Amino acid sequence: MAIKKIMVIGAGQMGSGIAQVCAQAGFHVVLNDMNEAALEKGLGNIEKLLTRAVEKERINEEDKEATLARLTSSSSLEASSDCDLVIEAVIENMDVKASVFQQLDEIAPAHAILATNTSSLPITDIAALTKRPEQVIGMHFMNPVPVMKLVEVIKGLQTSEETYETIRNIAINLGKTPVEVNDFPGFVANRILIPMINEAIYTVYEGVASVEDVDTVMKLGMNHPMGPLTLADFIGLDTVLAIMEVLHEGFGDSKYRPCPLLKKYVKAGWLGKKTGRGFYQYD
Ligand code: NAD
Repeated sequence: MAIKKIMVIGAGQMGSGIAQVCAQAGFHVVLNDMNEAALEKGLGNIEKLLTRAVEKERINEEDKEATLARLTSSSSLEASSDCDLVIEAVIENMDVKASVFQQLDEIAPAHAILATNTSSLPITDIAALTKRPEQVIGMHFMNPVPVMKLVEVIKGLQTSEETYETIRNIAINLGKTPVEVNDFPGFVANRILIPMINEAIYTVYEGVASVEDVDTVMKLGMNHPMGPLTLADFIGLDTVLAIMEVLHEGFGDSKYRPCPLLKKYVKAGWLGKKTGRGFYQYD
């Protein structure tokens, strides 16, 4: 199916990045957020990143202007009524995503594919909330979206082969490498990554080592480009906790219990880089 116009829902770290790469690849994009301030911030971030790309001579001024010209914004889901693909990137909360998908199912054209950038929630469950489960799929980008090459393409139980092929080709058009994944808690990336981050938090919680030293061990000892606690701050501690909870509930295995220190930080609003404080402090 030919995809011309894409709506991205949620203008946070992920949604703004997804909107940017889609617009840069030549698609018409509507960026949506229920929060006007978040929408402005998301659009501002895209412009800033494109300006930086021009300064670094990775794109030219005309590319930047053409990309911005393909990008519009809306705070209403009604704007999905002429879109061929909707990529949802709102917060990692099943109730919120359920409400968005149920509304989209009513508004978006019958042919439209509804994709979710969820880090861990079951695609099959989200699809079952709609009358088009064969056109619902996971499209899991990595953070930061303009930089990271991987997209996990997750098939729900009822996702059709045609939907899968369309999304796989879109990912390739965006310059990404798609990987086919079946719908199990955490998919592949987060089933492996998030328990490692949780274990790193446990080492701090149990006083085994400091935040900085845990990160140093993993950087210098394992050649990771960044330590797990720095990475947790970048992902957002609320998102890390939400994914651990999905793994814990989904597998019913105590090895996935979230660290109490992680829960405490999230309760305090220390969500990482986006709030200025997590395991580290940010300006
Ligand atoms: P974020 O908190 O930065 O942004 C979420 C945005 O969604 C906010 O701007 C919020 O205003 C908006 N929003 C909330 N409810 C909405 C609604 N009903 N309609 C429209 N907008 C709404 O979160 P994020 O880090 O961008 O994560 C978004 C999604 O991407 C989550 O599902 C997350 O699990 C997933 N994800 C995150 C990462 C990461 O590293 N942060 C990586 C891959 C996937």
